[in-house]
Amino acid sequence: MPSVLSIQNISKSYGPIQALKGVSFDVPEGSVFGVLGPNGSGKTTLLGIILDVLVANGGTYSWFGGMQPNEARKRIGSLLETPNFYHYLSAFDNLEITAAIRESGLGDRTRVLQQVGLYERRDSKFQTFSLGMKQRLAIGAARLGGPKVLVLDEPTNGLDPAGIAEIRELIRAMNKAGITIIIASHLLDEIEKVCTHVAILKKGDLLLQGPVNEVLRSEDQVEVRAADMAALEQAMQQMPGVKKVRLTEGTLQLTCDDNVTTMQVNQYCISKGITLSHLLLKKKSLETKFMELTV
Ligand code: ATP
Repeated sequence: MPSVLSIQNISKSYGPIQALKGVSFDVPEGSVFGVLGPNGSGKTTLLGIILDVLVANGGTYSWFGGMQPNEARKRIGSLLETPNFYHYLSAFDNLEITAAIRESGLGDRTRVLQQVGLYERRDSKFQTFSLGMKQRLAIGAARLGGPKVLVLDEPTNGLDPAGIAEIRELIRAMNKAGITIIIASHLLDEIEKVCTHVAILKKGDLLLQGPVNEVLRSEDQVEVRAADMAALEQAMQQMPGVKKVRLTEGTLQLTCDDNVTTMQVNQYCISKGITLSHLLLKKKSLETKFMELTV
C-alpha cells in the first residue's frame, strides 16, 4: 500500500525538553493510523509538525510521495483543538465562516453536515449542541473541501461513552469513504477499537509501530509445574507454539502463540510422560501490556 505520509527521524526540543527523539514511520493510504502514548509523550508536537504549525529541529516528512506542501495542504483536514465556533450562530452559519476563512469548501456545507449527522440540526445555534455534537461539527469543519486525509488530536476528549461511540462510528464511516485518518490518543481502548495501524510513543521515543493486530496483541501466559521440573522445562522448550520458557519460584512461565490452549499443553506433557501438578492460564490484558510498555 502506498503511504500518504512518510516521517523520517523527526526530533523536536522545547529548550531542555526533548519532546521527540528521532521518530520515523509511514502512514499507509486508507488506514486509520493511531498515534498512541500517555500525556506528554509528544503526540500533539508530532501532529503540529506534520501540519506545519510547528517546526522540527531535525528530520523530514513528506506528504503524498513528496507533493509540494501547498498542494498537499489542500488535501489535508485537521482538528488540533476544538475550533472557536460562534455560540449564537447556527451550525450552517458557523461552517460558512470557517469555509470563508479557509477559502475553500463553501459549497460543501450541506454534504459535510449530512456526513457528520447534523443536517437536521443545521439551523440550531451552536450553544444548544451537546459536547458530542460540537465535536462532530468540528470534524465536519475539518472535512470542508473534501480532504483525502484527516488529522485528529484526541477527538473524544471530554466526551461521555455515547459521544465517544458516535465519534468512533464517524471515524469508521469516513475511513470507509476512502479517507485516511491519523488520530492521536492516550486511550488504548480507542486506538484498539478504531485503528488499523498504530505507533506508540513514550517520552518522545517511538516504541513500536505497525498493524494494530500485530502491535497490540495480548500475550497470554501459561503456568505449569510437575514433580520433575527439569524434564518439564525440557519438554516445554520443544513444544510447538511455546515462544518463551522462564522458571520463576519453582514454576515455569510459558509465553505462547495465541492459538495454544492449556489443553494442548496438558496433552503434550502427557505424551512426554509428564503429569502436571499445576496448570494455569494467565490472561495478560492489553492494558497491562500497554502500561508495561509506556510507564
Ligand atoms: P498530551 O496528551 O498531554 O497533550 P502529548 O503526548 O500530546 O501530551 P506534547 O503536548 O507533544 O505531548 O508534549 C511533549 C512534551 O513537550 C511534554 O513534556 C510537554 O511538556 C512539552 N511541551 C509541549 N509543548 C511545549 C511548549 N510550547 N513549551 C515547552 N514544552 C512543551
